Amino acid sequence: MNIKENIMENFDYVVVGAGSSGSVIANRLSENNKIKICVIEAGGSNQHPYVKMPAGFIKTINDKRFNWCFKTEGSDYVNNREILFPRGKGYGGSSAINGHLYVRGQPDDYNQWAQLGNLGWSYDDVLPYFKKSEYKENGDDATRGKQGPLYVSDIVEKHPLCEEFIRGSSELGIQVQNDYNSGQQEGIFYYQRTIKNGTRFSAYDAFLKPALKRENINIKKNTTVLKIIFKNKKAVGLLCKKNNKTFEIFPNKEIILCAGAIGTPHLLQVSGIGDAKYLKSIGIEPSFEIKNVGEDLQDHYAVRVANRITEPISLNEKARGLNLVLEIIKWFTSKKGLISYSPAHIGAFLKSSPKIDSPDLQFVFTPASYTEGMIGKLQNFPGMTCGVWQSRPQSRGYVRASTNKITDPPIIQPNYLKEKIDQDALVEGVKICRSLLSTSTMKKISVCETLPGDSIKSDEEIFNFIRNKGATVYHAIGSCRMGVDNKAVVSPSLKINGISNIRIADASIMPTMPSGNTNAATLMIAEKASDLIKKDL
Ligand SMILES: Cc1cc2nc3c(=O)[nH]c(=O)nc-3n(C[C@H](O)[C@H](O)[C@H](O)COP(=O)(O)OP(=O)(O)OC[C@H]3O[C@@H](n4cnc5c(N)ncnc54)[C@H](O)[C@@H]3O)c2cc1C
Repeated sequence: MNIKENIMENFDYVVVGAGSSGSVIANRLSENNKIKICVIEAGGSNQHPYVKMPAGFIKTINDKRFNWCFKTEGSDYVNNREILFPRGKGYGGSSAINGHLYVRGQPDDYNQWAQLGNLGWSYDDVLPYFKKSEYKENGDDATRGKQGPLYVSDIVEKHPLCEEFIRGSSELGIQVQNDYNSGQQEGIFYYQRTIKNGTRFSAYDAFLKPALKRENINIKKNTTVLKIIFKNKKAVGLLCKKNNKTFEIFPNKEIILCAGAIGTPHLLQVSGIGDAKYLKSIGIEPSFEIKNVGEDLQDHYAVRVANRITEPISLNEKARGLNLVLEIIKWFTSKKGLISYSPAHIGAFLKSSPKIDSPDLQFVFTPASYTEGMIGKLQNFPGMTCGVWQSRPQSRGYVRASTNKITDPPIIQPNYLKEKIDQDALVEGVKICRSLLSTSTMKKISVCETLPGDSIKSDEEIFNFIRNKGATVYHAIGSCRMGVDNKAVVSPSLKINGISNIRIADASIMPTMPSGNTNAATLMIAEKASDLIKKDL
């Protein structure tokens, strides 16, 4: 969609980034027809079939048309590997390339935010915003939304391997969880997804696309914000670039940063907001010191266990040759079949130890298996995969500008596995994956373990496997942390501490990791941010 570019040049609010959070803010603020809004997005409109097809996930994961395709800096904990670190680019941002899973987390995740001093962010406070954003056909009215723009669907095509996996898990005493988004997570379930009629339903589809029909909103795509312009301690405007031409925008009221957990701290740093000493060392003149901009980066780090199976019934066979052609035709004609599937089908929230109060591990099961070291390539024999990550990792990393230019990729150091508690939880997680794949039900269809393989036995060997083979689950948060302590970047009203006329409303503000995938929490943050902004009007 290319409507209304450059026709309205007097704006009250400028939103940086048209991703998950930016799409919500654009929609909610433009509900008031007296407010004029401009959204600036570095990427394009993301109308490619790979974005629309749920299984296109595998194609967009490393494609610079839709993805910044960053890499992490290596660290000893991951054997000095640089890990591919995708971030969405273009309308919908990361929600246009994500794995579609809709997971809110546990009530205590948000109660902890409030306990850290972030008043207004307890579970009771944020539940109305989760409900406001979603449309979920079934589910308890007390916890699920029925009138929001974001369509959340259940899986209808249940693969026989998934059914067996659930049946087998009951041998381990694992209960089926009817709605893991209702406040109780523990158990096994089919994932709920942001997929509508077999097609990706990104934040663009839910929020931005309908908002762009309004007269009071303007979008500038393929436009990069190079710098925020400050006057004294006030953010007054933005320096932008499109097609080799630079221009400035000066909103009447506020700038709202929605550039994500990498883009937002990076933009602040190149604009002179961060650790003054570090900024000077890379040739940036500091405008205002907030040391923690870019610090406290958190992410989920996952590892997979895979088994070869006896019968050719996995998705590996459907994704090859003539079968794949037939599946693509099926999707174009009926929006069903392989191409309409999210990458993960089944999930489970379980405890790494019975001594823990609530689940600390999240599992994903897929009736498919991937070729080692080849992104998105399924194996040429039948297989299945069970992956795991620790829900609330304690390790903290950082995002740092590498030069004084926003166009140079930043240094991303998540410090995966730095804390012992994170290491131990994942070792237990791998053992649980193995148990889930070797129940007597699953043993009947399993030939052997292909990853990590039978030779990996002791805790030390399992940990080495985790260090060498784990990867991001794409849930970067925390790099512009909300809080009331002197290191926090934004206050509970999401205003940047010490600077006026600027807020952050994206995944970067989360103080700690929610126990789940981060899109739902990001949408909730943007819903609440919209209300905070409207209240200040
Ligand atoms: C591959 C992948 C899979 C994922 N899977 C899931 C999943 O299954 N379920 C789930 O809940 N979560 C998932 N996530 C995470 C979730 O999608 C993100 O947490 C969420 O989308 C973050 O939203 P955001 O608004 O903070 O940032 P984004 O959605 O990333 O939006 C930021 C936007 O800002 C733009 N931008 C950045 N810098 C600039 C600049 N200087 N100028 C102009 N524009 C700029 C970017 O191009 C982008 O469009 C996944 C993420 C990825 C990348």
